[in-house]
Amino acid sequence: MTYKITVDFSKCDGDAACRDVCPQECYADPVDGKTVIKKDYECIGCEACANSCPNGAIKITEE
Ligand code: SF4
Ligand code: SF4
Repeated sequence: MTYKITVDFSKCDGDAACRDVCPQECYADPVDGKTVIKKDYECIGCEACANSCPNGAIKITEE
């Protein structure tokens, strides 16, 4: 199973909550106030990032 990370960047304020909670280090440090998806191929679909995002900016879908 592979997963796709979709971020609505218009909602992202770069607080890096997603980076901090991801057990797979899928996100890099935010750049210019927006998160950076670094390793989507490592995603295990746990949804910790989506649940941590205060703005509901992240969706995880199965591919
Ligand atoms: S769903 Fe889990 S593994 Fe995938 S990016 Fe979010 S926190 Fe990381
Ligand atoms: S948790 Fe949400 S608002 Fe914060 S950096 Fe990640 S996507 Fe952006």
